[in-house]
Amino acid sequence: MSLFQLDNVDVAYNGDPILKNISLSIDEGEKLLVMGPSGAGKTTLLRKLFEVKPEKTAFIHQDFALVPQLSVFHNIYAGRLDANGWVRNLRNLVKPRDADTEEVGSIADRVGLGSHLWARVSELSGGQQQRTAVARAIYRGVDVILADEPVASVDPRQSTEILDLLIGSADTVVVTLHNISLGMETFSRAIGLKNGRLQFDTPSSSVTRKSIEQLYEPC
Ligand code: ADP
Repeated sequence: MSLFQLDNVDVAYNGDPILKNISLSIDEGEKLLVMGPSGAGKTTLLRKLFEVKPEKTAFIHQDFALVPQLSVFHNIYAGRLDANGWVRNLRNLVKPRDADTEEVGSIADRVGLGSHLWARVSELSGGQQQRTAVARAIYRGVDVILADEPVASVDPRQSTEILDLLIGSADTVVVTLHNISLGMETFSRAIGLKNGRLQFDTPSSSVTRKSIEQLYEPC
């Protein structure tokens, strides 16, 4: 079943066209990789998808969008603030419930932050902050994750593991990546964006070296 349907979509900022005539259908269960050079429109495309189903979707921002003064626990817990009642949210701000500490802690463990649960995010490295953002999206517990360069700051030794965890944590996952050597085989489908246009849209196993070279070569 089609989850996202874009038909001839154009997006412009201040009159400058950024996405040009994009038609794209994404089915439930797809794991989609979005490739393309910097400025191609990848983030803009993800934002456009988010607008379609904000309530069913977790978005991992390229700049993490964390609250630096708060702990890893509180930032991950924020992934479900809208689903948990305000009494529980207030209580957890001051003295987290054991059950929530356990659940959030187990997700923190999975991204390698179990021993940093009560550390302030501002004290973490960039990679640890990015893993906090990934954990928050997983904790949100929705069917769709849209992830914008979700492992760009993660230590290369951990990035495949984090990417696999992310992909396994929601039914439908759309990821932008600049490091395309990472896990092409993990995705079911790949699209190439260049200058705001779709260059290709194929099963990821069919992406050729030539199509990648053409995508990244200067215009
Ligand atoms: P990518 O993710 O592929 O690097 P983006 O979608 O972030 O590409 O950006 C595509 C183009 O749109 C870039 O030229 C960028 O400068 C421009 N752009 C993105 N967001 C905005 C914005 N909020 N206002 C104006 N221009 C923007």
